[in-house]
Amino acid sequence: MLNREACFDATRRLMAHPRGPDGVLAVMILRIRRFREFNIRFGYSSGDQLIAVIAEQVLQSLRPVDELIQVGACDFAILLPSLISPEHAALAAAKIMRLFQSPISIEGRLMPVEAAIGVALHPEHGDDPDLLFRRAERAYGQARASIDRYAVFETAPGELDIGHDDLHEAISNNRLDLHVQPIWDLQAKTTAGVECLARWHSPRWGWVDPSLFISLAEQTGLIMPLTRWSMNIGLHHCAQARLAGLELPFSINLSPRVFAERGIAEQLIGALRIFDIPPELVILEVTETTVMDDPALSARLLGQLRDAGLRIAIDDFGIGHSTFAYLQHIPATELKIDKSFVIDMMLSTRAPRLVQSMIDLADSLELDVVAEGVEDEDTLRLLEEMGCRYAQGYFIGRPQPAPAFLDALALKQKKLR
Ligand code: C2E
Ligand code: CA
Ligand code: CA
Repeated sequence: MLNREACFDATRRLMAHPRGPDGVLAVMILRIRRFREFNIRFGYSSGDQLIAVIAEQVLQSLRPVDELIQVGACDFAILLPSLISPEHAALAAAKIMRLFQSPISIEGRLMPVEAAIGVALHPEHGDDPDLLFRRAERAYGQARASIDRYAVFETAPGELDIGHDDLHEAISNNRLDLHVQPIWDLQAKTTAGVECLARWHSPRWGWVDPSLFISLAEQTGLIMPLTRWSMNIGLHHCAQARLAGLELPFSINLSPRVFAERGIAEQLIGALRIFDIPPELVILEVTETTVMDDPALSARLLGQLRDAGLRIAIDDFGIGHSTFAYLQHIPATELKIDKSFVIDMMLSTRAPRLVQSMIDLADSLELDVVAEGVEDEDTLRLLEEMGCRYAQGYFIGRPQPAPAFLDALALKQKKLR
């Protein structure tokens, strides 16, 4: 983050001198979405103007005591001291978001701009700038997916306060474990591949929910080391499986944050060479949200990986975006129907129809289709009748430690031969 120190200093200063009796300090992250795409379409100078106009308009909507600091190409930190109550922070965020309801005029052209705001509050959510900004960042993640496009940080009930250092220690000392979950071929009645899922057993907190530590990694800059770990350990097991006679595709999850990292494609392709693994044995899972965050960058990066022979799966398909336009540009090879549709299949009349339409869509685009979240036999049968080729879920197999699962599978195959 550019200007991070300036931001932290200002936050410290405002925390030390609260300008009101029991004032609340709100720390906000305002991020302009798809700014890269905007620059590519309209040019850098329009991009610069856009940021200047936005900064000007935001400043006008703030009070004189509030501070606006640009911290990145399309990121702002906003500090609002001595607010009367936490609700006033939400009101201020809503007011800023109203600026983006109508297009912004740049050089006489009206440009629609998407933005979102994450908010954290002092003293409620922490008393050091680093923690406050991390929590605002977390709220930003929720804001992106919400209708209002702003969100105030909320501590989930029972949430653990795990910090950067704990996760950093776990990653660098190789304390994460790789579990794999089988993907079943409904036609051939065989295991078609495995999805790699990271697991963390912390000496302090026990098993930590992967969604929790993955999002922590995304917020604290640890997602790249974590992704490197997943890639290397996944490929290592894939190579071991080959030595045991299993040509098994491995699916690896890619977080949206790693897309912005330089050299991610080269690192992956290089790793394949080191492990001597045919590229078609690796499937990269990306979500629709990842792809939509920066469609141009995603298309370029995934295109490069697809050209190198790797396969690309659209993960959590169906819950991200209402438009399929991105499928024109993303070289996907498969769709993974989100588990929320599949889990409801036996209970609702709508869910099976939605699943059927996703299977048909995949068919017409000549993409493979995987249904996730198959928890019982009836669902598996129904999917088979619907023409779904692949399935994954607790009924087929839970995620298990990679070595045990792969050894057992290799043994089973040997017996069949
Ligand atoms: P995902 O990619 O959607 O992974 C599938 C999740 O669904 C896994 O949760 C899996 O345990 C769970 N699942 C599988 N079958 C069933 C089922 O039949 N019913 C239900 N209710 N759930 C099922 P998990 O392991 O908790 O992972 C959560 C998310 O964390 C993953 O969602 C993935 O986005 C992320 N993740 C996990 N490992 C990694 C990793 O190494 N790197 C990255 N970037 N993300 C990871
Ligand atoms: Ca996945
Ligand atoms: Ca998924």
